[in-house]
Amino acid sequence: MTSAAERRLGDRIARELYRDPDFVDDPILSNYIQSIWQPLLMAARQRGELTPELEERFAWRIVLGRDRSVNAFALPGGYLGVHLGLMAVVSSRDELASVLGHELSHVTQRHIARLMSKNSQQTPWMIGAMILGALAASKNANTGNALIVGGQALSAQAQLNFSRDMEREADRIGFGVMTQAGFEAQGFVTMFDKLQQASRLNDSGAYPYLRSHPLTTERIADMQSRVSLGSTHTLSTTPTLAHAMLTARARVLSNPGLDAMQNWQTLAQDAAFSQKPQAEQAGILYGAAMSASRMREPAKARTQFAQLQKITASDASAQQQTRWLGVEIGLLARDLSRPQVLALGETIGLEASQPQPTLRPDLLLQAQVAMQSGQAQALDSVAQRLQTWLVDAPLDALAWQWLGSVYAAQNQPLRALRAEAEARIAQLDYAGAIDRLKAAQERLQNVTSTSANHIEASIIDTRKRQIEALVKAQSAEK
Ligand SMILES: [Zn+2]
Repeated sequence: MTSAAERRLGDRIARELYRDPDFVDDPILSNYIQSIWQPLLMAARQRGELTPELEERFAWRIVLGRDRSVNAFALPGGYLGVHLGLMAVVSSRDELASVLGHELSHVTQRHIARLMSKNSQQTPWMIGAMILGALAASKNANTGNALIVGGQALSAQAQLNFSRDMEREADRIGFGVMTQAGFEAQGFVTMFDKLQQASRLNDSGAYPYLRSHPLTTERIADMQSRVSLGSTHTLSTTPTLAHAMLTARARVLSNPGLDAMQNWQTLAQDAAFSQKPQAEQAGILYGAAMSASRMREPAKARTQFAQLQKITASDASAQQQTRWLGVEIGLLARDLSRPQVLALGETIGLEASQPQPTLRPDLLLQAQVAMQSGQAQALDSVAQRLQTWLVDAPLDALAWQWLGSVYAAQNQPLRALRAEAEARIAQLDYAGAIDRLKAAQERLQNVTSTSANHIEASIIDTRKRQIEALVKAQSAEK
């Protein structure tokens, strides 16, 4: 299977994942995972595992799923699926890097293409449907492996699993990539331990990753020899404050039920709370404040948040997480005056004198602040910042969505529709994009023509023709 064909198959699968109600683009968790993923990609590039050709042809995008089960999987075409459940159980960045490095290596070593070639009697459509079916099944521990896909019963296990040799190769190359990227080798070991413990408890329902990655004795022996050769120092697995907070966030987002949210309150009020290590306290307070805020109990959320601020005061990266949470709590409470909302924006650099934000959570929270304040100046400023951002990140669907909302608030319906169309394009939903561009064209027929409208009209026409040509090319391939 060529890399171009693999990419097309990957796009087809990713389009469905973006449409899945479980798909989540949480800017704060996405930012964290990117801070691990980008160094891994760079290391793979330096080591020659990631060739320029593959880099250009594949997507290299991570798709987050809200699911509570522990799973990560390489998909065709350079897409990587990661469940929030995985982010909720890792104890360090290094552990997460070990899993991502392993999955990345399945892609760079073209393991997927090799599996596809073995199944050459199947069409890409069938393979795509099979992968999606297997993913759906992996979300629910009670579903058996027998899937009905395309009129055939297939065993997902047999068809999709990499061979033992491929797994060992992904371990070996992934280990090299993660250590070269500056992550601790120990993360590979502690992640293995974690999986082994789950495996002993026979907890594979919560750990679909274990079903696709059985811990064979060869894999464990390989790992032990590699680590004892490579590293002389041992690391504690105590998470950093920021890591504990992000883990708590992944737990809240993947388990938003009332019971779970109450449980955070219990943990925060527990008598043993003050005896816990600081990172654990930070995680509990983060989870408790976030849950209280979502249960519409802003007063409680603010009290817990104030405690969290004290604990994180001397740690810069934990403070950044605290700042973002503070803005979220303020926005969700909806009880602030316009000046108070704008003051929240100032904590994350929304003032006119501040430079363009470099972190995505800052930018997207600024957009929410501007929208809630409704202040013209704030909206103008954020519209500009989003436009600048999108020049470098044209596939940032969420940024396009916020830009669309900001344009609508500025009473610029044509631009709003076009931004919404771009958001659809970024998630490969071309039909949805064409719908919005058509709506924009219809709107144009009913407004008096001005030169500004004229420019907008020609952009809309061009974009619509481009997307229609893309759809035509794709349907010709089937
Ligand atoms: Zn693997």
